[in-house]
Amino acid sequence: MGDLIFKLRVLRMMIGHAYEEWRDSVWKCDLDSTYCCDGRECCCGAETVRELWSYAGTPSNG
Ligand SMILES: [Zn+2]
Repeated sequence: MGDLIFKLRVLRMMIGHAYEEWRDSVWKCDLDSTYCCDGRECCCGAETVRELWSYAGTPSNG
């Protein structure tokens, strides 16, 4: 029983982290703003938040 409670606590913690990440990187964001930089500082290609998550939710066809 102790193990079950512990596992559920871990689940709650993970969901909490996922929620905070979602809130900061999706909910508060303008979907058409770049999620990283304008593409000059790294190789992200100035991808927007919307584009990032559009790809993430679509199975890759190669
Ligand atoms: Zn970048």
